[in-house]
Amino acid sequence: MEMLTIGAFARASRLSPKALRLYDELELLRPARVDPDTGYRYYAPEQLEQARLVAWLRRLGMPLAGIREVCALEPAAAAREIRAFWARVESETATRRDLAAFLVDHLSRTAPSDRSDPSFPGNPSEDTTMLELRYSALSDTGLVRPANQDTAYAGTRVLAVADGFGSGGAPASCAAVEALKFLDSEPLPAGSVLNLLEDAVQGATQAVQEVAGPTNEIGTTLTAMVWTGSQLALVHIGDSRAYLLRDGGLFRITHDHTMIQSMLDEGRLTPEEATVHPQRALLLKALTGGGGSAPAPALDVRLHDALVGDRYLLCSDGLSAVVPEATIRDTLAAAPGPDEAAQALVGAANDSGGPDNVSCVVADLVNAESQ
Ligand code: MN
Repeated sequence: MEMLTIGAFARASRLSPKALRLYDELELLRPARVDPDTGYRYYAPEQLEQARLVAWLRRLGMPLAGIREVCALEPAAAAREIRAFWARVESETATRRDLAAFLVDHLSRTAPSDRSDPSFPGNPSEDTTMLELRYSALSDTGLVRPANQDTAYAGTRVLAVADGFGSGGAPASCAAVEALKFLDSEPLPAGSVLNLLEDAVQGATQAVQEVAGPTNEIGTTLTAMVWTGSQLALVHIGDSRAYLLRDGGLFRITHDHTMIQSMLDEGRLTPEEATVHPQRALLLKALTGGGGSAPAPALDVRLHDALVGDRYLLCSDGLSAVVPEATIRDTLAAAPGPDEAAQALVGAANDSGGPDNVSCVVADLVNAESQ
């Protein structure tokens, strides 16, 4: 087999010699032979394909470790890795897109020059100030677990569900929710939603770290919504969920931070396989102890436009893991009010064996005068 000099290989692969030397240093593409005397690099013609692949993967933005891994795989396995990489990129971008939309929306609403103009798109209309929440919170041990480590809470502004895990799971979930209650007890200062949410997120993170201590084996999920008077701000980490029932349709408005959800996103698993996967409860992110050793995980934060007639459900996985979404939808839709809805949903989980603690918070957005 005839070896190519770096110059000839560069021309054949349409990469610069500089790029080829970089790939060598980064251990992405090693020359087939390096002359021990001159240090000249020589390449085999069959390395052309891999050189092109490395170049394309770098253009794709794949990290070096990923490129090394892909280059070592058979084409079918390499294709799966690239698909999985791209799914992760899209999911991270989606989170940042939500955050960008949140900031654009927030700043549009708080811009002083726009505020005086009620026709400005994005300004809350007059009647939204008359909206309020009707709510109910219910948490149940279920039929199997010895204790309830969930915490459910609903107030005039704050709706929250937290699912504690580990030996101190109950204090952890309780601490996370307690840290949000200040939002219920004081008037929300105008234009400071960002600060309040940041305080809430920081407070919950710290409170859980304090009760859980140095171990990340103890922690909690947290899914909460804060009514600002015109919108709902969503704060979420873990696998508890928030749903919206609107016009008869049920929409999940949170993304599970679970291994299974990532595998679904990356196309490594079908929804059917996911429902029976042995590790379906494995969390990728949660509020835990062990603070200081690692940066606190980022919570999803989002503003959600609410409409009169919306019915919201926050629930722990004790409901969503055992009750099909069609049943959740029908049960939510059939209940006359939040109390009945929460009771019926907890009942449905226990009718399905009640294998886990189950918590449901249900809230309706109504006109304040419709008592
Ligand atoms: Mn649970």
